This record gives sequence, C-alpha cells and structure tokens, in this order.
Amino acid sequence: MTQLTDIGCYILDMDGTIYLGEQVIPGARELLAHFDATGTPYYFFTNNSSKSPEDYVEKLARLGFGSYDISRIITSAHVSMQYIRRTYGESAAIYAVGTPSLLSQLNEAGFDVSDSRTPDCVLVGFDTTYDFKKASRAVDLLRAGVPFLATNVDAVCPLEGGRVLPDCASICAMLTHATGRRPKFLGKPFPETAAYIVEYTGIPAEKIAVVGDRLYTDMRVAVDNGMVAIGVLSGEMTRADIEASEIRPHYLFDSVKELLDALR
Ligand SMILES: [Mg+2]
Repeated sequence: MTQLTDIGCYILDMDGTIYLGEQVIPGARELLAHFDATGTPYYFFTNNSSKSPEDYVEKLARLGFGSYDISRIITSAHVSMQYIRRTYGESAAIYAVGTPSLLSQLNEAGFDVSDSRTPDCVLVGFDTTYDFKKASRAVDLLRAGVPFLATNVDAVCPLEGGRVLPDCASICAMLTHATGRRPKFLGKPFPETAAYIVEYTGIPAEKIAVVGDRLYTDMRVAVDNGMVAIGVLSGEMTRADIEASEIRPHYLFDSVKELLDALR
C-alpha cells in the first residue's frame, strides 16, 4: 500500500471534493497551497464534458483558488478525443451529441463535426442542449452500425438543493432503448482514463492518488487501475455506501481538510 507521503501526483475531482456548486469546501484552498508549497504535482479531473477547461479555470479563479493554466484541467472529453484519434485517426468525423463547448473542443482538435459525411463514430456527452433532432439523427446512425461512444458513465449531475440533471448515461439509455446499441463509455472509471492520466502526468500509476467523492467513478478508477483511492465524504458517497460496495477507498477522510491534516 502506497503511503500518503510517497504519493507523487494528485488527481483531484472538483464538484463534491474541492467545492460544492458555488461553495468552497473548507480546507480545499489550503490543500492546494500545501501542494504548491511542497512542489507536489496535481491536476483536476472531471467527468463533466459539457464545459471546457477554460470554464473550469474561470470557476477556480472565481472561487478564490487562484489562476491555473488550462493544462491543469483534464475532462472526459480529453480522454474521448485521444481514444477517437487513436482508433479512427487524427481527422475522424464525429457525430457529437454534446454542448456547443464540446463541439468546439472537437473542432479545435481537428475532428470533423460538420455532419457532412458518414461519421466514424457517434460521441454522446453530457449534453445540456440535447433535443429530439439530435436524438433522431443519433438513432439513424446507430441503427446503421456507426460505433457508439460516450464521454462519461454518470447517470445524473447533482445540483445545489438536492436536484439533479440527467447526465450522459441517461441520454445514452434513451438511445440504447431505441436502437439496442450500447455505448463504450470513456472517462472515469475506465482504463482509457487511467492510461491517459499516467501518460499525461508522466508518473507511474502506483504513485498517483485520485481524490474524489464518488465511489463508482473516482474511487473505482483508482482501485481498478493500480492507483491510490482517497475518498472524501464531503460530496456524494457516505460510509454506508462504502460498506455496501465492493469498492473500498484506500484512504477515507471527512473532507480534504482532514487529508491536509494527515499530510502535514
Ligand atoms: Mg465529484
């Protein structure tokens, strides 16, 4: 078991881990300041493919975390783009069911999102602009056998006040129901994401810790891929969830504040 003092890189989930909606979780700013002071590398990883790295840089600054370069933000869209590039080529055609932000990221990366030729794949994201026109186009393509990819496996996206939004997996469920096709999900907890993180950071898996509040994404990506799983109880998962699950975080803290106390 990797000791906390031997961790060489932290991958931090954002919502539920360092902030909750618009509220900073106490200790989060201090934890990042501690990493900066000790020269410990860290990155932010979110499964949310509806927003761009620039949006997260802006949010971190707005919440007083300081100014970060976009290279510190990794999303499930990055992992999806790497997978598509390696599987279908640099200028693959994608029919994307995603936000304008996801489409512009795909376009800037050199993919063809014009829907003017038969796509190499359908990529479904957390599309807060989803509509019936996109659903029916995706159904046509999936029925014609076009490969089906999805940025992230989250069923819902939690909002403040206990509400949730239907996330990527819920949109996929509709398309699966209509076509009998199941997507290949990317993002956390899948091995493509762990491999992306190892490659991107240049740090071996056993020295990387994933800090997060969700069992089936944050904890599972670490446990399944030889990384260190550090759970925090400031977001979604509870001690009861952990007891009922086969996924066990290697370390568990009430919040990042207690993680910081353990590191000091
Ligand atoms: Mg979270």
